[in-house]
Amino acid sequence: NAQVETFEFQAEVRQLLQLVIHSIYSNKDAFLRELVSNASDALDKLRLESFRDKDLAVDTEDLHIAVDLDAEARTLTVRDNGIGMSRDEVVQLIGTIAKSGTAEFLKQLKEAKDAAGAQELIGQFGVGFYASFMVADQVTLVTRRAGEDTGTKWESGGAGTYTIEAVADAPQGTSVTLHLKPADADEQTADYTSPWKVREIVKRYSDFITWPIRMVKQGQVEEGAAPEVETVNSMKALWARPKEETTEAELTEFYKHIAHDWAEPLETIRLRAEGTFEYQALLFIPSHAPLDLFMRDGKRGIQLYVKRVFIMDDCESLIPEYLRFVKGVVDAQDLSLNVSRETLQQDRQIQLIRKRLVKKILATVKDLQAGDADKYAKFWGEFGKAVKEGLVADPDNRDAVLEICSFESTVSVGDTDTAKQTTLREYVERMKDGQQDIYFMTGDSRSVIENSPHLEAFQAKGYEVLVLTDPIDEMWVDAVTEFDGKPLKSIAKGEVELDADSGTDREEQAKDFAGLLGWMTEHLGESVKEVRLSNRLTTSPACVVGDTHDLAPNLEKMYRAMGH
Ligand code: ADP
Ligand code: MG
Repeated sequence: NAQVETFEFQAEVRQLLQLVIHSIYSNKDAFLRELVSNASDALDKLRLESFRDKDLAVDTEDLHIAVDLDAEARTLTVRDNGIGMSRDEVVQLIGTIAKSGTAEFLKQLKEAKDAAGAQELIGQFGVGFYASFMVADQVTLVTRRAGEDTGTKWESGGAGTYTIEAVADAPQGTSVTLHLKPADADEQTADYTSPWKVREIVKRYSDFITWPIRMVKQGQVEEGAAPEVETVNSMKALWARPKEETTEAELTEFYKHIAHDWAEPLETIRLRAEGTFEYQALLFIPSHAPLDLFMRDGKRGIQLYVKRVFIMDDCESLIPEYLRFVKGVVDAQDLSLNVSRETLQQDRQIQLIRKRLVKKILATVKDLQAGDADKYAKFWGEFGKAVKEGLVADPDNRDAVLEICSFESTVSVGDTDTAKQTTLREYVERMKDGQQDIYFMTGDSRSVIENSPHLEAFQAKGYEVLVLTDPIDEMWVDAVTEFDGKPLKSIAKGEVELDADSGTDREEQAKDFAGLLGWMTEHLGESVKEVRLSNRLTTSPACVVGDTHDLAPNLEKMYRAMGH
């Protein structure tokens, strides 16, 4: 009883599909990368599930991906015999977008000024499966979840709706058939029935995929004989290959596959340990922050493999939260294939790997700082806010984290909006003779700080003051007491010693003003702890200062921003 049901796409998907269909993304070849990437993920998941559950009735013989072309029918099919999807999963995964930040993405897209801007946004978001609609006017997906009897057929033209139908005899896994747009729709579309073209795209985008990708062998096939197939990818795990044997282009495509990103990475990091406790890591710093960087359910980007076998995504035991934007793969040789998230947290080897990853990532950023100022500036602009969390969360590496931070300061007060930032090392180099401390002030905005009376005496003396306006700044300034032996001092808190040699003056002054101070203390009563003479002001008559250990008002705001 093949009953066909019609469903409406979720509103976000509908909007996204409109954009995809009208093809503001110029690199249409990307659709094939997305389909192969999904097939590869599905095979990883199947292998993992069969390890975990030995009784699962699944076929793990000959796991592979196949790409079939039919020039006459103008179809291209990507098949896998992986995990497949249940009917509900199809509705959930293909009919809706679960990605956090989707609403924000669509909003930004609507506001995009031009096609180039929109294209860049699409590239940052990545449209995954929906990329099929860049080249197809009809997509048919047939799938059967491993271990289940009935399959599901999903079909859509990419407009508002899709259909779902039960299929009795679907093979395990998923096949996605694209009914390619008419050959004259545009130049590129016509090519996707060409075996040469398709093979070239697969090689270019998916060579490192560790499952065989098969296509019918080219050349004359005898009438009636079964067509011969061949594997078109080399299947070498990139992270296990020596550096000299990988190209920049391969690394980039690998990054796009594991990060589900369409943009190139900013930096690649490799690590390997040999001997009794062997592992390889291939990590990437993306070129842009994900939309969910500051969302609570945001993911961490390290995949764990054991001896080339995929074990899990988002392995939080391998990377601290403040470096959650780093993507990549860790392949450990000596772990059990049965590790779980819980056992990993206690695992000594994992803890050691994590320590080394953190050190290496911080060192890589430090190298950027020294060797590639533009890249470093880009890095800091995208991820600085997250990295600063490490000043509080990772006391062991605090100094190394501090080294890679940049802050606005009064020295860079300038005419541009993007006031130049300074590292603490640069600040220290500019310190005036006799200046003992690194001065900073936290506040809501640069203009609030610039107009603050606290700043006057420091400006008058020509002392540089760091201008800290991120909510997270309130947190770390309490945790970080010094840099390079120089104390960090808030100019808005406690007593600031600006002039060591004016001590005698102050005693005199204290006598002269005793009456006024007494009167003020009495009248201000409960509102203040103490009224005292200050050497921090030059033109303003008075200002309110916090006690050295008081919490700043901005802290409360930050807790709210984090959702507490
Ligand atoms: P992403 O891969 O980034 O999650 P996609 O749009 O490419 O986004 O795919 C959405 C989801 O659909 C996948 O996460 C997966 O759960 C499911 N899916 C897609 N293709 C397959 C497939 N070949 N086999 C099994 N599940 C798939
Ligand atoms: Mg995908």
